[in-house]
Amino acid sequence: MQFAKIPGQIALKRRLISSVQSGHIPHAQLFSGPEGSAALALSIAYAQYIACENRSPEDSCGSCSSCIKMQKLIHPDLHFSLPVNWVNPTTSLHTAPFLPQWREAFLRNPFLSIEEWSGYISLDGKKPLISAYEAHEIIKVLQYVSVESEYKFMIVWLPEFMNLSAANRILKTLEEPTPKTLIILVTRAYDSLLTTIRSRTQLIKVLPFNVADATKVLVDQFNADPAKAKQLADITEGNIAEALWMLESGDEAGDLLDLFRNWMQYCYGFKIDSLVALAEKVHKKEREWQKSFLSYSLYMIRQTMVMNNNSSLNRLSPAEFDFINKFRQFFHPGNYEQIVEYIEEAARQIDRNGSSKIIFFDVSLLISDVFRKEKATKQNS
Ligand SMILES: [Zn+2]
Repeated sequence: MQFAKIPGQIALKRRLISSVQSGHIPHAQLFSGPEGSAALALSIAYAQYIACENRSPEDSCGSCSSCIKMQKLIHPDLHFSLPVNWVNPTTSLHTAPFLPQWREAFLRNPFLSIEEWSGYISLDGKKPLISAYEAHEIIKVLQYVSVESEYKFMIVWLPEFMNLSAANRILKTLEEPTPKTLIILVTRAYDSLLTTIRSRTQLIKVLPFNVADATKVLVDQFNADPAKAKQLADITEGNIAEALWMLESGDEAGDLLDLFRNWMQYCYGFKIDSLVALAEKVHKKEREWQKSFLSYSLYMIRQTMVMNNNSSLNRLSPAEFDFINKFRQFFHPGNYEQIVEYIEEAARQIDRNGSSKIIFFDVSLLISDVFRKEKATKQNS
């Protein structure tokens, strides 16, 4: 992957390139960026740049034999450690058997999420994991000298899926790897990593894509219609993994609007039975859908605030405009932040594999409570 294939991130690319040019490549780095960001893609572009036989001051050449192998993820010095789970419970759990699927998944979407990856390896609800056995494999692989490139690279995707013994096992390697080794951990959950891991790695913060850059990726790399791409980039705030899921799961925006409309009406009317039924309905959907629904809800609430400030600035479809126009009196500066905070917390809990039924019901009660308190205040005044 060349840096040029990743839009934006100018300052960060410059920083990575200058580490190579100055010969100061920290041996253990932690690329931290949210889901659907360029963190993983950048780590691979960085490795490709270091290994390129003909690099320029801006990018790898993309055509030398090293670049060609890097671009297919088949370079013998490029190693991966990934969250996986048993296909066959009698074997030790490690990454190697999953590499063909990994190449397919990454080459299709370099900004993929753990949910998308889980689909490739048919986890069937099993939790993905980087096992202690895998940690042993990491250490073993890094003991060898590199085969073709000056450096050997180990990219550990989503170290937050390491269990404690795996994490502890690699600490020494992170601290003192063999010479000419670069270990890159790519995380979307920096706060959940052990401090001992964080303290042994150089932090590289990767910002989410902005809406313009995410739109560009969706149009250029996934042939999305520009207006649709822009809308999805907006709804997901630049999370390409989520935007792509929404794009490919069909025209869901109409369904999401209906559900959001019902949800807010039930919350406002404090209709407990309907809220229970809604939580059950949401619970039956896949996790990606649940995340999309919460992102969409946040998007709609943000758009309401935009509309309350200046109705010409909103980005809504006519149906969305119509609903929000009726509902906008209910979202205002006094409750907006609180409701957004509740929904964002629900999204975080979904991300941490919480029970969606309980999470949705709880957040519904919290939002109902905001509306109920307001109604009480109005009645008393
Ligand atoms: Zn090259």
